[in-house]
Amino acid sequence: MNAPSSNHHEAIVIGAGQAGLAAGYHLARRGIEFVILEASRRVGDVWRERYDSLLLYSPAKYNALPGLPFPLATRAFPTGRQMGDYLEAYADHHRLPVEAGVRVDRLRSSTGADNAGGYEISAGDRRHEANQVIVATGAFQRPHVPELAKRLDPAIRQLHSADYRGPHQLGDGPVLIVGLSHSGADIAHEVAEAGHRTFVSGAAHGQLPFSVDSRRARLAWPLMRFVAWNVLTLRTPIGRKVAPKVRAGGGPLLRIRRGDLEAVGVTLNEARTVDVDARGRPVLADGTALDVANVVWCTGFRPDYGWIELPVFGEDGWPKERRGVVDAQPGLYFLGIPFLYSFTSMLVLGAGRDAAHVVDRLAARAADRSQGVTAGKAGSTAA
Ligand SMILES: Cc1cc2nc3c(=O)[nH]c(=O)nc-3n(C[C@H](O)[C@H](O)[C@H](O)COP(=O)(O)OP(=O)(O)OC[C@H]3O[C@@H](n4cnc5c(N)ncnc54)[C@H](O)[C@@H]3O)c2cc1C
Repeated sequence: MNAPSSNHHEAIVIGAGQAGLAAGYHLARRGIEFVILEASRRVGDVWRERYDSLLLYSPAKYNALPGLPFPLATRAFPTGRQMGDYLEAYADHHRLPVEAGVRVDRLRSSTGADNAGGYEISAGDRRHEANQVIVATGAFQRPHVPELAKRLDPAIRQLHSADYRGPHQLGDGPVLIVGLSHSGADIAHEVAEAGHRTFVSGAAHGQLPFSVDSRRARLAWPLMRFVAWNVLTLRTPIGRKVAPKVRAGGGPLLRIRRGDLEAVGVTLNEARTVDVDARGRPVLADGTALDVANVVWCTGFRPDYGWIELPVFGEDGWPKERRGVVDAQPGLYFLGIPFLYSFTSMLVLGAGRDAAHVVDRLAARAADRSQGVTAGKAGSTAA
């Protein structure tokens, strides 16, 4: 067996999604030595592996990271694959040092190479050390499926939206979509158009008064961007009010809205799916039992930082941070968390700003540390 390899870096970024790559861009600009560790074989696979028909709801203009425009007309909506390819091109364009196919399975404290504290990062038998770490592993980590799923008739085909690619995965017969946010609406529309009798259980978290594809939306985007970027932030009372709701998941319907679903024959029921009857059928809170052949759980995700062996998490599973900076664990940062600073934090649009803030702090700490080392050396020479 080969001995584990060991590498020491000033900074390690874990995850090469939009958040990790934006961090890489700012680290490179500041001349800070770093590496990005990415679990997927190719940068952008997270987007390529989302459902086949995915069309972003934000236009190309708002999907660019710092230093590289999105290669589509500004008003065009990229597909998931185009978004994945853009991220891969971004890493190449800026020559970011991404090590792909490396899934980090442990992050813990170490004494660090200069005995000033640092981090040890393991990925299988590979081991890295870093003075500072940015965790950018994404908010959609562990698909959440309610417990009652286990009690459904085994003949019902079940899958989570994270595993849904297209209607070809479903069995013949009716479909229940549980949860009505973006993916729930997109998937319900698609399976109804494919000829399935389709039911949706659950209330939407509101909806735009017009579809993002409409002319009105084109005119409204600059205003929506302004509000999401400047008003809905942790600096404003309204921003602080909506932040926990945004973090808990579920956003308003933006493209496929209730009327679009009704137009293709989807039966909408705001009652949640809460039980299973004696025949193994899903039962809604209003008592409706549904004879369906398929259930698609569009019930969101939960954070999964179980591989981080540091006492920095709250009861809600999210790290205790301020704009991505963990005060209790110097040199540790998080990016890509919903409402890290603003509504845009969970969008491509906000990735650059959040990363710039975190890298500012990281750079200041790196400078302090190197001054400390220099001062220490000077002190020992004088002694
Ligand atoms: C269906 C859907 C549609 C969306 N549409 C839009 C849209 O239109 N516009 C918009 O702005 N936003 C949209 N979003 C939201 C958002 O932009 C994405 O969720 C985005 O992928 C988040 O970027 P991220 O970098 O934080 O995380 P991710 O994209 O999830 O990237 C995290 C990276 O970390 C890697 N990773 C994870 N764990 C490890 C580990 N242990 N070790 C190493 N690497 C690891 C992953 O492989 C991944 O590459 C959408 C989200 C979904 C689910």
